[in-house]
Amino acid sequence: MENFIVSARKYRPATFDTIVGQKTITNTLKNAIKNHYLAQAYLFTGPRGVGKTTSARIFAKTINCLNIDLENNPDVIEPCNECESCRSFNQNASFNIMELDAASNNSVDDIRRLVDQVRIPPQVGKYKVYIIDEVHMLSQAAFNAFLKTLEEPPPYVKFILATTEKHKIIPTILSRCQVFDFKRISVDDIVKYLRFVAESEHVKADDEALHLIAQKADGGMRDALSIFDQLVSFTNAKVMYQNVVENLHVLDYDYFFQISDQFLSGNITSVLVILNDILERGFDGQHFLIGLGEHLRNLLISRDVKTIALLETSSSIKKRYMENATKFPPAFLLKALDLNTQCDVNYKSSNNKRLLIELTLMQMVALGSGISDFVPKETPSTLPPVKKIAIVEEVVKPIPVVIEEKKTTEEAPTIPKVSEPEQKMQTPPEQKTMEEVESPARPQRIPRGMGLGVSIKEEENAKEEEINPDAYMIGKENIADEFSQEDVNKICDEFLENIKQHQSLYATLKSNRAKIAEGFVVELQVYNEVQKSALGEKLFDLVKLLRIRLNNYKLKAIINIIEGEKAKKSMSPVEKYNAMVEKNPNLKKLKDDLNLELEF
Ligand SMILES: [Zn+2]
Repeated sequence: MENFIVSARKYRPATFDTIVGQKTITNTLKNAIKNHYLAQAYLFTGPRGVGKTTSARIFAKTINCLNIDLENNPDVIEPCNECESCRSFNQNASFNIMELDAASNNSVDDIRRLVDQVRIPPQVGKYKVYIIDEVHMLSQAAFNAFLKTLEEPPPYVKFILATTEKHKIIPTILSRCQVFDFKRISVDDIVKYLRFVAESEHVKADDEALHLIAQKADGGMRDALSIFDQLVSFTNAKVMYQNVVENLHVLDYDYFFQISDQFLSGNITSVLVILNDILERGFDGQHFLIGLGEHLRNLLISRDVKTIALLETSSSIKKRYMENATKFPPAFLLKALDLNTQCDVNYKSSNNKRLLIELTLMQMVALGSGISDFVPKETPSTLPPVKKIAIVEEVVKPIPVVIEEKKTTEEAPTIPKVSEPEQKMQTPPEQKTMEEVESPARPQRIPRGMGLGVSIKEEENAKEEEINPDAYMIGKENIADEFSQEDVNKICDEFLENIKQHQSLYATLKSNRAKIAEGFVVELQVYNEVQKSALGEKLFDLVKLLRIRLNNYKLKAIINIIEGEKAKKSMSPVEKYNAMVEKNPNLKKLKDDLNLELEF
């Protein structure tokens, strides 16, 4: 297998047509030769191993080939590989080509030596070609020494500068060169070429294996060939998928397909076992995350015929993706990708990296197994506060359904909330016009909060408040100072400033002051259900404000709808208009569309 170590060299392209994946550039170069339009200097930029130096050598060989006959045969712009010049090129013995690796020869002296040689015209062929590789490594002084020659070289000299880092080339050099941007070579192109090499060398290789090699090479043909060489010697000339997976330490597609299947079946255990297996085989967690991200992305793009072309895998794996993709709703894939990205971002700074991945996977399982209602599941802390549920009956109904399901999936953070809406459901509905709003603080909550610790620190209180909106009540439930109508008016007025955007509600509450009823009850009056539900949403904050400011934690609030004639009479024309708009927003649209003015 000795001879395999050199396949990158052995199969180095010798003509423009055999350069892989850079058709645009080779065509442009050929046309330039054909039309006698050669630049003095070229800059070849692009990632490593994509054919920059190879193209430069073929270009140098072609413009020196003695058999190029532009007059009689203008369409054949390829080196003949037979003439004296071509042969000396192929044997690395040509005096017409000078290669300088600027990475190791970057001093002024190196450049001076080169510039000295420039003065001597070629003996055989027409041109002397200087290839300066990794040109961005030249020192500033070397650049300066080179500039003048680059600006006015003798007509028989051509410069080809090559670099992987175009941004490091100073503008004075850039402006003197014709620039060619070499692209990464596509996986398909690399696979085709590897297939050709394998067949020429009688090496058995399956399609999946070659695809893996091509992906690993990341667009570089030189890397692809050297990986291929290594695998040929490791696997005894049988380059098969399983061998490649093991030798390249690549995560098998199979793992990811298994995991994504478990997302749908909701099997957390299996997912964790698979992850464990992967980690035990020595794969890095981040490596896994990158693979999982790619897998989810592949599933997403496999849903559409138009994007399936973006999938750079073998046809059998492509088929598997297409079959699988339909099982996953795009919303799930997008959200899962998002979770994956977040995990990837946080990975480096995490102290428990494994737990971070496990948590992310569990979230994905939760997401995948209950796709329709994952939103409330996923954000328990941002669920609307309890007060909303207490007032608007319609909202109450769906909540217990979700909560029951949460019980079965055993999601810890949601458990504290279970008792409340259920209890709420059991309370009988009140009269039609008077609906008592249960005070947001419920006695059974308090012992739980108290039980957290004998002495609760302030910061703990703040934390507690996030999960338990009634935390401000803890330990104060029996405090009930007396208060006056004036006190209530003052606080209500302050509060109303915050809801000015609800014009009609604001006006209503301004003209109908809150009344104090017996038993520390504050009665609020509105005109209709719309206002009632709007006020309901603010009620928790209002009650909290009143309780704290009045130092009365037994205070409750009720919302009362003013009925019939009384309502109409007591409404100002503006209020009537606003109330009508609230009932039917089209009215405002009509007014605006017709550009009407209100007159009261
Ligand atoms: Zn030739």
